[in-house]
Amino acid sequence: MRAPEDRRAIGRRRIWLLVAAALVPLCLLLVLQYRWLVSLERVSAVAHRATLDNYLEAVASAVELHYRSIGERSLNLPAALFTPDRLHKAAYHFAKKGGDEAGRLFVVGFDGEDAGRPLFFDRATSALAPLPWSEELRAVYAAVAPWKVLAAKPGTLERPSLQVDDRDPDHRSIVNPITDEAGRVVGLAGLLIDGGHFEREVLPRIVADALPEFSAADAAGRPLLTVRDGGGREVCCGETAPARPEEATRALGFPFRDFSLGIHSRHRTAADWARRNFALNLGLSALLTAIVAGGVLFALRAAAREMRLSQMKSDFVSNVSHELRTPLASIRVFGELLRLGRVESSDKVREYGELIETESRRLTHLIDNILDLARIESGRKSYQLAPGDLERVVGETLRTFRPRLVQSGFRLVHRACPDPLPPLALDEAAIGQALGNLLDNAVKYSGRSREIAVGVRREGDWAVVWVEDHGVGIPRDEQPKVFDRFHRVSTGLVHDVKGSGLGLAIVRHVAEAHRGRVELESRPGAGSVFSLWLPLAPAAGEPAPLGARRTSEA
Ligand code: ADP
Repeated sequence: MRAPEDRRAIGRRRIWLLVAAALVPLCLLLVLQYRWLVSLERVSAVAHRATLDNYLEAVASAVELHYRSIGERSLNLPAALFTPDRLHKAAYHFAKKGGDEAGRLFVVGFDGEDAGRPLFFDRATSALAPLPWSEELRAVYAAVAPWKVLAAKPGTLERPSLQVDDRDPDHRSIVNPITDEAGRVVGLAGLLIDGGHFEREVLPRIVADALPEFSAADAAGRPLLTVRDGGGREVCCGETAPARPEEATRALGFPFRDFSLGIHSRHRTAADWARRNFALNLGLSALLTAIVAGGVLFALRAAAREMRLSQMKSDFVSNVSHELRTPLASIRVFGELLRLGRVESSDKVREYGELIETESRRLTHLIDNILDLARIESGRKSYQLAPGDLERVVGETLRTFRPRLVQSGFRLVHRACPDPLPPLALDEAAIGQALGNLLDNAVKYSGRSREIAVGVRREGDWAVVWVEDHGVGIPRDEQPKVFDRFHRVSTGLVHDVKGSGLGLAIVRHVAEAHRGRVELESRPGAGSVFSLWLPLAPAAGEPAPLGARRTSEA
């Protein structure tokens, strides 16, 4: 069979293995989580940036789509119109297809006397007419000039498409070169873009449509879009942009190639946003891990306590059975000797009789302790407190103990209280039992020393009963634990001296039932002093502790 220490060590090792089995995967999980979060931080920053890029892309595409569809719709004129005598009929087409927001529409034919001269559509009269000289007209002439050169040259234009002329940014135009069947440029249909209309109406509408809906609650999360013209002037969209640089930019494209788009997160940059997510997730993971680890440790501590308790209980059973068997064997042997009449001298008869008496008292003491603890554990232990004389109780207990002490070669010093004590509220039997337990321990743990002192003194409102020995003493870290039930100090004499681990638990319970306490001063190798402090008078306002008092578990 294994010694209790070995069993305890195995139990401890098992618990540590369980702790490691639970905590190592948890820590691994936390490390993995950390690594995932680091890469998630990187990915989410990129994803956030991509989202901002997508907003810009959506705005640029919507502007292009808007102007291309106007161009396709209003500038697609049949080549047959581009003869000097039919050009004025283009006005019908413009009246039908040129929407209000198209800007100023014009046509240019490259044949006849007026070749290269732009005619502008007047919405009020639905007719074409030349314009007086102006910046606008100059810009249109500049846009027409290259096409006029092209029209004069033989050759074909493979795929005519909408062209933008933005050399004069205030009067930018979209022109559609019209080609005949042979691919020769016969004229131009064009549109002078109304920049003011674009900035006031078109752009804000497109920006509002491109950004997703944000509810009032998370409007702060809506990104902030800015549009600047070629000169760096902010043309949209009403809100002042933060001082920090934009997180994403791009050119607006057709037909505002010199314009630029920029976007900010309103309060946080993509990096801030990812960092915050990272910190939040990591914090949550750490919190969860701490909770799980706390739970595991708590469960393991409870398991360890249970194991220790069950170990103590089994030690208790083995100690108690030894404690019961030894006096019983002596009683039987001496009883048999006396019955068989083998003892002749009357001194021997008296000696054996005393031994039987002492052993039966030890048995009674042990059984009293066991029964008391059972009552304490089940909450049935009650104390009868009545005014009593502490000195008398101490004297009687010492009288009962003296033969055993003398027999074992002890010198018992009794120091009575110098001043007479007032009567105390005492359960005399319980105090006698507690003092008996202290004396019993003093004898058991005295080692080679053969002196025990017992005394009573007064300390203010307290009466103190103390028992002093010069035995093995108790290490400091064990001192608070010796009052726990079943606890026995694993060093010192514990292997040689049998015990149940109940005595001091009962002493503490008795002291507390009297509204007192037990104090211990001890040094390994020098001995111990146990003092039972009992109140002389009940505290003000408290009922006098007389009569039956039921107490809970020790
Ligand atoms: P036990 O039956 O084991 O003596 P107790 O509850 O009376 O049980 O004491 C608990 C433990 O406290 C003992 O096992 C012993 O290790 C220690 N102890 C108690 N009294 C003394 C003492 N006077 N000197 C040294 N150790 C003591």
